[in-house]
Amino acid sequence: MGSMDLMQKPHAVCIPFPAQGHINPMFKLAKILHSRGFYITFVNTEFNHRRLLKVLGSDTLNRHPSFKFETIPDGLPPPENFDVTQDIPSLCKSTSETCLEPLKKLLSKLNDTTTMPPVSCIVSDGAMSFTLDAADELGIPEVLFWTTSACGFLAYVHYNTLMEKGLFPLKDSADLTNGYLDTIVDCIPSMKDIRLKDMPSFVRSTDPDEFMFKFALQETIRAKKASAIILNTFEELEHDVLKELSSIYPHVYSIGPLHILENNMVNNDLQLLGSSLWKEETECLEWFDSKESNSVVYVNFGSIAVMTPQQLVEFSWGLANSNQTFLWVIRPDLVSGDSPMLPPEFLVATKDRGLLTSWCPQEKVLNHPSIGGFLTHSGWNSTLESISSGVPMICWPFFAEQQTNCWFSCNQWGIAMEIDSDVDRKQVEKLVRLLMVEKKGEDMRQMARAWKKKTESMSSLLNIDNLINQVLLPS
Ligand code: UDP
Repeated sequence: MGSMDLMQKPHAVCIPFPAQGHINPMFKLAKILHSRGFYITFVNTEFNHRRLLKVLGSDTLNRHPSFKFETIPDGLPPPENFDVTQDIPSLCKSTSETCLEPLKKLLSKLNDTTTMPPVSCIVSDGAMSFTLDAADELGIPEVLFWTTSACGFLAYVHYNTLMEKGLFPLKDSADLTNGYLDTIVDCIPSMKDIRLKDMPSFVRSTDPDEFMFKFALQETIRAKKASAIILNTFEELEHDVLKELSSIYPHVYSIGPLHILENNMVNNDLQLLGSSLWKEETECLEWFDSKESNSVVYVNFGSIAVMTPQQLVEFSWGLANSNQTFLWVIRPDLVSGDSPMLPPEFLVATKDRGLLTSWCPQEKVLNHPSIGGFLTHSGWNSTLESISSGVPMICWPFFAEQQTNCWFSCNQWGIAMEIDSDVDRKQVEKLVRLLMVEKKGEDMRQMARAWKKKTESMSSLLNIDNLINQVLLPS
């Protein structure tokens, strides 16, 4: 299909939710579809497009004749600081309320352009279900891409059940701290023994109208209208959950890990085009070359998680006292309300074995042989990248379905240990040592390697072909 006349190509419009952890997997999927002969229009928000241009340079985007970038406004007032993560609930609210009209306008502009094929399908983020109306109007298929784990998605689907069982809303704000969150939920197939605290974090509210709870639930309901649901996971990892989802949504395709499939399937000039909203600092890769294998702890809490100044201090001393070598990625906005301030004594104590940076090429880092463990916030991309690199984890889940990813990593996949949300230095020190020098860590490393092997299976590759042939190509 690759050499097909441009105007004959199927045209997929790909619309990620405007946050890093959603843009990355959508971008990989877009490149894969492109390699399978699709003309791609990739739609970022104006804000993120500007950030990408700043990172990549203005001459890098829109170079390719059949892979184009377009923008729509996100509906939020422009933030004061350009490099700061936007507030997720505000984005959910503003995109769902304001983006449909600009999207429709963009689609009709694309369809009026004679130099590109007509739009034939939409691939949109699962948290942007308003886009279904645009596809409906054009009479074209739309697939919703939930960039969460399958278990995270199923947990959101069951928000309904939590309401019916009276587990949401919480009766009293004391329930946040009195052990009530340890209640076993016991009503979600394929999640036996999961606790209320392992459900996506928006259940932790006494407000029956909690916006993110209602929003997530509404998106899972609207997802039933999509032509198909796709998930960045693989059958071997989430077999039971995927089976359960397929009984609720008839067309579910697991097509991950997308970064592995991208490496195998995309071999043109787009391969090198990244989607990081921050500039990647790469000097750590050279530093790793001088380290022994499995000797470095990689610490990174993703693009959204924030912590208090005190938590930063606890992590610092935990790492210092563990005596392990580490790379710690500290985003400029990692600490809420302040710029991150590390104790000067910590910097002195770790100067020979600690490297600090602000944003790194994470996939490359995790694949480096010197990395022996990952202290993570359990974002789904990070979890999947760790699994496919055979690296065990310590999880400090921050919000959303990160709690569920953490529970599955620790209790179902055997590749992680959880750290208390109320983190203290003693626990950090103990878990880091367990991970890096004790048998427990080595056992988890073996398990992670066994999972890594399974990412090389063919199931997702077949599912991508099926998705293309059964849903995305015009019949
Ligand atoms: N990432 C990166 N460099 C960093 C931190 C994160 O490239 O220093 C990437 C990471 O590889 C992943 C994404 O950003 O693909 C973060 O997504 P995730 O779902 O793990 O967490 P979120 O940022 O959404 O909380």
